[in-house]
Amino acid sequence: MIPQPAQYLLRFDDLCPTYSRERWRRFTPLLAEFGIRPILAIVPDNRDPALDWSPPDPAFWDEMRSLEGSGSAIGLHGLQHLCLSRGRGLVPLHRETEFAGVAEETQRVWVREGLAILRGHGLNPAIWVAPRHGFDRATLRVLRGEGIGLVSDGFTRRPFIRDGLTWIPQQLWAPEAKKSGLWTICLHANTAPDSLVKQLRRFLQDRAQQFTSVERIAAGSGPAPLTFAGRMQAQAALLRVRVRTGLSRLRHAE
Ligand SMILES: [Zn+2]
Repeated sequence: MIPQPAQYLLRFDDLCPTYSRERWRRFTPLLAEFGIRPILAIVPDNRDPALDWSPPDPAFWDEMRSLEGSGSAIGLHGLQHLCLSRGRGLVPLHRETEFAGVAEETQRVWVREGLAILRGHGLNPAIWVAPRHGFDRATLRVLRGEGIGLVSDGFTRRPFIRDGLTWIPQQLWAPEAKKSGLWTICLHANTAPDSLVKQLRRFLQDRAQQFTSVERIAAGSGPAPLTFAGRMQAQAALLRVRVRTGLSRLRHAE
Protein backbone atom coordinates (compact mmCIF):
# COMPACT_ATOMS: atom_id res chain seq x y z
CA MET A 1 0.00 0.00 0.00
CA ILE A 2 1.31 3.44 -0.91
CA PRO A 3 0.82 5.67 2.16
CA GLN A 4 -1.74 8.43 1.70
CA PRO A 5 -1.32 11.23 2.65
CA ALA A 6 2.44 11.19 2.18
CA GLN A 7 4.76 10.18 5.01
CA TYR A 8 8.28 11.45 5.49
CA LEU A 9 11.42 10.23 7.15
CA LEU A 10 14.54 12.29 7.80
CA ARG A 11 18.02 10.83 7.35
CA PHE A 12 21.28 12.49 8.35
CA ASP A 13 24.37 11.13 6.59
CA ASP A 14 28.09 11.28 7.35
CA LEU A 15 27.83 11.52 11.12
CA CYS A 16 31.16 10.77 12.82
CA PRO A 17 33.21 12.30 15.66
CA THR A 18 34.97 14.71 13.28
CA TYR A 19 31.71 16.19 12.01
CA SER A 20 31.00 19.88 12.34
CA ARG A 21 29.23 20.02 15.67
CA GLU A 22 28.29 23.62 15.06
CA ARG A 23 26.56 22.77 11.78
CA TRP A 24 24.88 19.70 13.26
CA ARG A 25 23.57 21.84 16.09
CA ARG A 26 21.46 23.78 13.62
CA PHE A 27 19.27 20.67 13.26
CA THR A 28 18.97 19.21 16.75
CA PRO A 29 16.55 21.87 18.07
CA LEU A 30 14.20 21.01 15.18
CA LEU A 31 14.26 17.32 16.08
CA ALA A 32 13.33 18.14 19.68
CA GLU A 33 10.74 20.81 18.86
CA PHE A 34 8.85 18.70 16.32
CA GLY A 35 9.45 15.24 17.83
CA ILE A 36 11.27 13.98 14.73
CA ARG A 37 12.95 10.57 14.89
CA PRO A 38 15.43 10.43 12.02
CA ILE A 39 17.88 7.86 10.74
CA LEU A 40 21.37 8.77 12.01
CA ALA A 41 23.76 7.33 9.43
CA ILE A 42 27.07 7.00 11.28
CA VAL A 43 30.48 6.23 9.75
CA PRO A 44 31.98 3.85 12.36
CA ASP A 45 35.68 4.43 11.53
CA ASN A 46 35.89 7.45 9.29
CA ARG A 47 39.01 7.75 7.12
CA ASP A 48 37.50 10.06 4.51
CA PRO A 49 39.27 13.44 4.73
CA ALA A 50 36.15 15.10 3.32
CA LEU A 51 34.41 14.31 6.63
CA ASP A 52 37.17 15.80 8.82
CA TRP A 53 35.55 19.05 9.87
CA SER A 54 36.98 19.27 13.39
CA PRO A 55 39.11 17.38 15.91
CA PRO A 56 37.15 14.35 17.20
CA ASP A 57 34.28 15.59 19.36
CA PRO A 58 34.41 13.81 22.74
CA ALA A 59 30.65 14.34 23.13
CA PHE A 60 29.76 12.74 19.79
CA TRP A 61 28.88 9.22 20.96
CA ASP A 62 26.90 10.53 23.92
CA GLU A 63 24.92 12.69 21.57
CA MET A 64 24.14 9.71 19.30
CA ARG A 65 23.15 7.52 22.28
CA SER A 66 20.83 10.17 23.59
CA LEU A 67 19.16 10.62 20.19
CA GLU A 68 18.75 6.87 19.82
CA GLY A 69 17.18 6.90 23.27
CA SER A 70 14.56 9.34 22.00
CA GLY A 71 13.62 7.17 19.02
CA SER A 72 16.15 7.84 16.27
CA ALA A 73 17.36 4.82 14.29
CA ILE A 74 21.08 4.18 14.03
CA GLY A 75 22.28 3.58 10.49
CA LEU A 76 25.50 1.76 9.57
CA HIS A 77 27.00 4.14 7.00
CA GLY A 78 29.73 1.92 5.58
CA LEU A 79 32.92 1.46 7.58
CA GLN A 80 35.53 4.06 6.60
CA HIS A 81 33.62 6.02 3.95
CA LEU A 82 36.52 5.55 1.55
CA CYS A 83 35.09 4.88 -1.87
CA LEU A 84 37.90 3.00 -3.59
CA SER A 85 35.87 0.34 -5.41
CA ARG A 86 34.40 0.74 -8.88
CA GLY A 87 31.86 -2.05 -8.62
CA ARG A 88 28.38 -1.57 -10.02
CA GLY A 89 25.84 -1.62 -7.25
CA LEU A 90 22.10 -2.24 -7.10
CA VAL A 91 21.39 1.53 -7.05
CA PRO A 92 23.94 2.77 -9.59
CA LEU A 93 24.19 6.50 -8.88
CA HIS A 94 27.95 6.87 -8.43
CA ARG A 95 31.01 5.30 -10.00
CA GLU A 96 33.11 5.02 -6.83
CA THR A 97 31.75 3.01 -3.92
CA GLU A 98 33.03 1.55 -0.68
CA PHE A 99 31.25 -1.81 -0.84
CA ALA A 100 29.87 -2.67 -4.29
CA GLY A 101 32.17 -5.02 -6.17
CA VAL A 102 34.28 -5.87 -3.11
CA ALA A 103 34.72 -9.60 -2.30
CA GLU A 104 31.93 -10.91 -0.08
CA GLU A 105 34.36 -12.13 2.59
CA THR A 106 35.90 -8.64 2.84
CA GLN A 107 32.47 -7.05 2.99
CA ARG A 108 31.57 -9.41 5.84
CA VAL A 109 34.69 -8.37 7.76
CA TRP A 110 33.89 -4.67 7.19
CA VAL A 111 30.23 -4.98 8.18
CA ARG A 112 31.15 -6.92 11.33
CA GLU A 113 33.78 -4.35 12.23
CA GLY A 114 31.39 -1.44 11.67
CA LEU A 115 28.65 -3.05 13.75
CA ALA A 116 31.13 -3.89 16.52
CA ILE A 117 32.37 -0.28 16.69
CA LEU A 118 28.85 1.15 16.90
CA ARG A 119 27.77 -1.46 19.45
CA GLY A 120 30.95 -0.81 21.41
CA HIS A 121 29.70 2.75 21.82
CA GLY A 122 26.39 1.49 23.19
CA LEU A 123 24.40 1.97 19.98
CA ASN A 124 22.07 -0.49 18.26
CA PRO A 125 22.57 -0.23 14.52
CA ALA A 126 19.31 -1.18 12.81
CA ILE A 127 19.57 -0.11 9.19
CA TRP A 128 22.12 -0.12 6.38
CA VAL A 129 22.90 3.20 4.69
CA ALA A 130 25.50 2.69 1.95
CA PRO A 131 28.00 5.47 1.25
CA ARG A 132 27.13 6.74 -2.25
CA HIS A 133 24.36 4.13 -2.60
CA GLY A 134 27.12 1.59 -3.28
CA PHE A 135 26.18 -1.97 -2.37
CA ASP A 136 25.49 -5.19 -4.18
CA ARG A 137 23.81 -8.55 -3.55
CA ALA A 138 26.85 -9.72 -1.56
CA THR A 139 26.38 -6.75 0.80
CA LEU A 140 22.76 -7.75 1.33
CA ARG A 141 23.69 -11.39 2.04
CA VAL A 142 26.28 -10.21 4.56
CA LEU A 143 23.83 -7.83 6.26
CA ARG A 144 21.17 -10.53 6.49
CA GLY A 145 23.73 -12.87 8.02
CA GLU A 146 24.61 -10.24 10.61
CA GLY A 147 20.97 -9.67 11.54
CA ILE A 148 20.48 -6.32 9.78
CA GLY A 149 17.18 -6.58 7.92
CA LEU A 150 16.64 -2.96 6.82
CA VAL A 151 18.14 -0.90 4.01
CA SER A 152 17.63 2.81 3.41
CA ASP A 153 17.69 3.14 -0.37
CA GLY A 154 15.70 2.77 -3.56
CA PHE A 155 13.38 5.01 -5.54
CA THR A 156 10.01 3.44 -4.88
CA ARG A 157 7.08 5.09 -3.10
CA ARG A 158 6.68 2.45 -0.41
CA PRO A 159 8.92 0.02 1.45
CA PHE A 160 9.43 -3.32 -0.28
CA ILE A 161 11.23 -6.62 0.15
CA ARG A 162 14.21 -7.46 -2.04
CA ASP A 163 16.83 -10.16 -1.49
CA GLY A 164 15.32 -10.88 1.91
CA LEU A 165 15.71 -7.34 3.29
CA THR A 166 13.17 -4.56 3.74
CA TRP A 167 14.09 -1.50 1.72
CA ILE A 168 12.86 1.86 2.99
CA PRO A 169 13.13 4.10 -0.06
CA GLN A 170 15.23 7.30 -0.07
CA GLN A 171 14.45 9.68 -2.89
CA LEU A 172 14.86 13.29 -1.75
CA TRP A 173 17.73 15.58 -0.73
CA ALA A 174 15.56 18.47 0.45
CA PRO A 175 11.99 18.75 1.76
CA GLU A 176 9.41 18.52 -0.99
CA ALA A 177 5.64 18.25 -0.54
CA LYS A 178 4.16 15.05 -1.92
CA LYS A 179 0.57 13.78 -2.08
CA SER A 180 1.24 10.15 -1.28
CA GLY A 181 4.06 7.68 -0.67
CA LEU A 182 6.85 7.32 1.87
CA TRP A 183 9.68 9.76 1.24
CA THR A 184 13.06 9.79 2.94
CA ILE A 185 14.80 13.16 2.87
CA CYS A 186 18.57 12.74 3.12
CA LEU A 187 20.50 15.66 4.60
CA HIS A 188 24.22 16.28 5.09
CA ALA A 189 24.52 18.55 8.11
CA ASN A 190 28.21 19.31 7.42
CA THR A 191 27.47 20.98 4.12
CA ALA A 192 23.79 21.98 4.28
CA PRO A 193 23.35 25.72 3.73
CA ASP A 194 21.39 27.74 6.32
CA SER A 195 18.64 28.15 3.72
CA LEU A 196 18.03 24.38 3.84
CA VAL A 197 17.69 24.50 7.65
CA LYS A 198 15.08 27.25 7.25
CA GLN A 199 13.31 25.31 4.53
CA LEU A 200 13.18 22.24 6.80
CA ARG A 201 11.75 24.32 9.65
CA ARG A 202 8.96 25.64 7.44
CA PHE A 203 8.25 22.14 6.15
CA LEU A 204 8.07 20.75 9.70
CA GLN A 205 5.77 23.56 10.80
CA ASP A 206 3.28 22.39 8.17
CA ARG A 207 3.87 18.65 8.17
CA ALA A 208 5.53 17.41 11.36
CA GLN A 209 2.61 15.00 11.92
CA GLN A 210 3.39 13.28 8.63
CA PHE A 211 6.90 12.32 9.77
CA THR A 212 7.34 8.71 10.74
CA SER A 213 10.22 6.63 12.09
CA VAL A 214 12.06 3.45 11.17
CA GLU A 215 10.60 1.83 14.27
CA ARG A 216 7.04 2.59 13.13
CA ILE A 217 7.70 1.43 9.59
CA ALA A 218 9.31 -1.80 10.81
CA ALA A 219 6.35 -2.47 13.12
CA GLY A 220 3.82 -1.94 10.31
CA SER A 221 2.35 -4.64 8.15
CA GLY A 222 5.07 -6.50 6.25
CA PRO A 223 6.01 -4.86 2.97
CA ALA A 224 5.39 -6.87 -0.18
CA PRO A 225 7.81 -7.47 -3.06
CA LEU A 226 7.54 -4.81 -5.76
CA THR A 227 5.02 -5.22 -8.53
CA PHE A 228 6.11 -4.84 -12.15
CA ALA A 229 4.59 -1.33 -12.20
CA GLY A 230 6.42 -0.45 -8.97
CA ARG A 231 9.74 -1.61 -10.44
CA MET A 232 9.17 0.44 -13.58
CA GLN A 233 8.29 3.53 -11.53
CA ALA A 234 11.47 3.09 -9.46
CA GLN A 235 13.61 2.65 -12.59
CA ALA A 236 12.17 5.83 -14.09
CA ALA A 237 12.75 7.78 -10.85
CA LEU A 238 16.35 6.52 -10.65
CA LEU A 239 16.93 7.55 -14.25
CA ARG A 240 15.58 11.05 -13.54
CA VAL A 241 17.99 11.42 -10.59
CA ARG A 242 20.90 10.15 -12.70
CA VAL A 243 20.11 12.66 -15.44
CA ARG A 244 19.81 15.47 -12.87
CA THR A 245 23.07 14.62 -11.08
CA GLY A 246 24.82 14.09 -14.43
CA LEU A 247 23.71 17.54 -15.57
CA SER A 248 24.80 19.21 -12.34
CA ARG A 249 28.20 17.47 -12.56
CA LEU A 250 28.57 18.84 -16.07
CA ARG A 251 27.64 22.29 -14.85
CA HIS A 252 30.13 22.08 -11.97
CA ALA A 253 32.85 20.95 -14.35
CA GLU A 254 32.47 24.16 -16.32
ZN1 LIG B 1 28.22 9.46 3.15
